[in-house]
Amino acid sequence: MSDSIQLNHLHKNYDRFALRDLTFSIKEGYITGLIGPNGAGKTTIIKMIMGMVHPDQGSISIFGQENSSDEASVKDRIGYVSDENFFYEQLTLKQMKKVIAPFYSRWDEEAYRKYLELFKLPELKKIKELSKGMKMKFSLAVALSHGSELLIMDEPTAGLDPVFRRELLELLSEHIQDEKKSILFSTHNTADLDRIADYIVFINDGRLVFNETKEALPEKYMLVKGGKELLDRDVRKWFTGIR
Ligand code: ATP
Repeated sequence: MSDSIQLNHLHKNYDRFALRDLTFSIKEGYITGLIGPNGAGKTTIIKMIMGMVHPDQGSISIFGQENSSDEASVKDRIGYVSDENFFYEQLTLKQMKKVIAPFYSRWDEEAYRKYLELFKLPELKKIKELSKGMKMKFSLAVALSHGSELLIMDEPTAGLDPVFRRELLELLSEHIQDEKKSILFSTHNTADLDRIADYIVFINDGRLVFNETKEALPEKYMLVKGGKELLDRDVRKWFTGIR
């Protein structure tokens, strides 16, 4: 089994440590869920993979290429989904798509039209008129339409209504089965992980706590106990338990 991404001994210090000696990999063809409390370092990791933040020490290998986050040929192969995106707020979705599509060598207009319809995205509305959830959907439609082999998603289910959240999770697990994509997504929601993640990367205070298949999680970290999902208060205990 090969790795889509290998993070090696990453350090990042702002006024305090955001990441400390962080090493883990994202397996090709699997869904990896990144979880941890507020401030654990999830967004910092995602921004580093996307070349938006640079590590103080350590390296990142993407598709076997060391420190390649800034290269267009690598960016082309990664779909980035976030509500904090690069869209121009003043443009309509239709105008924005015209700006974005030429950047990608494998843009699939047919797939894009399919996702526009599926996500009920209003092409003639301006980006600034979209809700957080709609922006996430537009970001996802773009990511799924440029033939990316790896999807990197920063809290894709945050701000989504329950119906679309369920549809999104279904879409992601079907997508990965059909097209053998790799997905890294961050979340605070253990039910998301329970539903679709193959691997769970748990970070706390910038350090890796574990990177395991869901089945291999130690008993104290189990997401499901006796077939019952952990409640929010249990999740808090779960986080406290590892400090
Ligand atoms: P959340 O779940 O709240 O989104 P997170 O796990 O994504 O949190 P990060 O946003 O990666 O966490 O932040 C990790 C740490 O780095 C936090 O202590 C945060 O305050 C700090 N940090 C992140 N970005 C910056 C920045 N640009 N300048 C200073 N500190 C930062």
